[in-house]
Amino acid sequence: VGNSWRRLLFHPKGLLAVMVVSCGFAGNVTGGVLIWRDYSDSRRQTEAAGREAAHLFEEHVDRAIDGAELVALWFAERAVADGGMARAVATPGARASLEAMVRAVPAVGNITLVDAEGRVAFDLGGFHPPGTSLVDRDWVAALRDGGRDGFIGKVLFDQSRGSYSFTAARRVISADGSFLGVVGAAVEVGYLAKFFESLPAAADSTLGIYRLDGEALARLPLRIDDIDRTMAGDPLFVEHLSQSPDGSYSDQWSRLVSYRTVESRELVVWVAQGDGEAMAQWRQRSLRTALVLGAMFAVTAALSWLLAGRIGREYEAAAQLAQVNLDLKRSNADLEQFAYIASHDLKEPLRNIASYVQLLQRRYHGRLDPDADAFIGYTVEGVRRMQTIINELLAYSRIGTARPELAPVQAGATVSAALSALKNVIAEAQAVVEVESKLPVVMADGPQLTSLFQNLIGNGLKYRRDDARPEVAVGCEDGGSQWLFHVRDNGIGIDPQYHEQIFEVFKRLHARDRYSGSGIGLAICKRVVERHGGRIWVTSEPGKGSTFWFTMNKAEAPDA
Ligand code: ADP
Repeated sequence: VGNSWRRLLFHPKGLLAVMVVSCGFAGNVTGGVLIWRDYSDSRRQTEAAGREAAHLFEEHVDRAIDGAELVALWFAERAVADGGMARAVATPGARASLEAMVRAVPAVGNITLVDAEGRVAFDLGGFHPPGTSLVDRDWVAALRDGGRDGFIGKVLFDQSRGSYSFTAARRVISADGSFLGVVGAAVEVGYLAKFFESLPAAADSTLGIYRLDGEALARLPLRIDDIDRTMAGDPLFVEHLSQSPDGSYSDQWSRLVSYRTVESRELVVWVAQGDGEAMAQWRQRSLRTALVLGAMFAVTAALSWLLAGRIGREYEAAAQLAQVNLDLKRSNADLEQFAYIASHDLKEPLRNIASYVQLLQRRYHGRLDPDADAFIGYTVEGVRRMQTIINELLAYSRIGTARPELAPVQAGATVSAALSALKNVIAEAQAVVEVESKLPVVMADGPQLTSLFQNLIGNGLKYRRDDARPEVAVGCEDGGSQWLFHVRDNGIGIDPQYHEQIFEVFKRLHARDRYSGSGIGLAICKRVVERHGGRIWVTSEPGKGSTFWFTMNKAEAPDA
């Protein structure tokens, strides 16, 4: 199992798949991290904008209520100085200066003076006729009870002016400590709204001013249902305010809420933001990033797919070729082995046959009839030939099984050895053998190189013309990366159509009675040369002699 896994993994397709998957993974992780970073940046930006808006609005509300209280205090002082609520505005001059005062504070829409019994003593806007009882107004009730000097009443809708306002009220106490009444200054929600609309975060935000008891004083954009609405059940009051006076959180509509407490006034200012510009941009950027990454991955995957197909086919082909080569090598080795064993094992019985036939010839020569003598003679001859063939076959297969031991060898020395083995043949043929004086050093197996020269020179002598004295020349030239040797004769030559065939085993061109031989010599030569990393071929014209050429590797460090 482990092996097949490894094969799969190291298969080019497997590697490619691993690469594509890891690329995709890395791309996704990188993209994810980028998008997440961008998200938290955008979120932080939105949060900061929300906090900023809450902060600005808090200041603005504080300032507006400050103004209203200032006006109320001013009225209260006048009332105390003049000794009663109604007296503070008794003269037209006093009234005019009060009106000017109210006009100077844009947040304030109206002023109402209420006496100790809770009845209207004066109403600047004229909405409440004097004497109207306002005891049920929360700010009147709260301040008549005593215990506190100021109170902010809940939001009301004024039909006649068509506007929302809440009341900042002050208690009025005379110098001797008696309760004179209450001054109420109406803070215009419209005035706050104008400021809110000028804030950059206003576009998709909701804003609220609540009393700490949960009463909604104003919510922007303005909504009619905010009258008498309590927010006490809102998570802001239930969870967050108790933990921290200022802060931010995500509400159930995943809006980002920032809030700030105005401690001195028992108010809280609250800004809820939709996703806003920053998040919209983030969403666009993320979409683009995701699309680009996706497209890149798709292109990579598609290209890899194409590549995988091609590589896969080549890989299979290479693997098949390697397998075929392996099979071929194995069967060649088997054949080699077979030829070797067969020729080796045939030698023994053949020797017996030869001995007995020779014995027969010696003992019974002339004692049987002439036919028998002739037959015995043929048998002896046949057995001898068979021995020669088997010996050569054995030599041939030995070259196949044993690796040549390559070492720097003096080519001249191997030629001399070959000539001394051939000296009888040379003498008998009265041949002239010319050897180039300076033959090089080659990388070779000495005995094999000797047998190569012996075979080639021997053939040159054997296939001689009757009408000429045999001449054989051995030489060498520089063939570039290798040495190029030649053995030239002036013999019978070879028809070009046989130039290839003669190097095959048992391939002969002549009858045995004309030229003896087994047809293995040149096959041995070819094998020796090829085992040495060279090539052998012949150039010849019939009747004009032949030249056998072969190449041999140069010795790595040629000795001079
Ligand atoms: P053989 O034992 O018959 O010489 P070889 O393998 O040495 O076998 O040679 C194969 C054949 O090539 C020979 O039968 C002969 O016809 C031809 N041949 C080889 N050498 C020469 C040569 N020098 N000149 C002409 N023919 C040759």
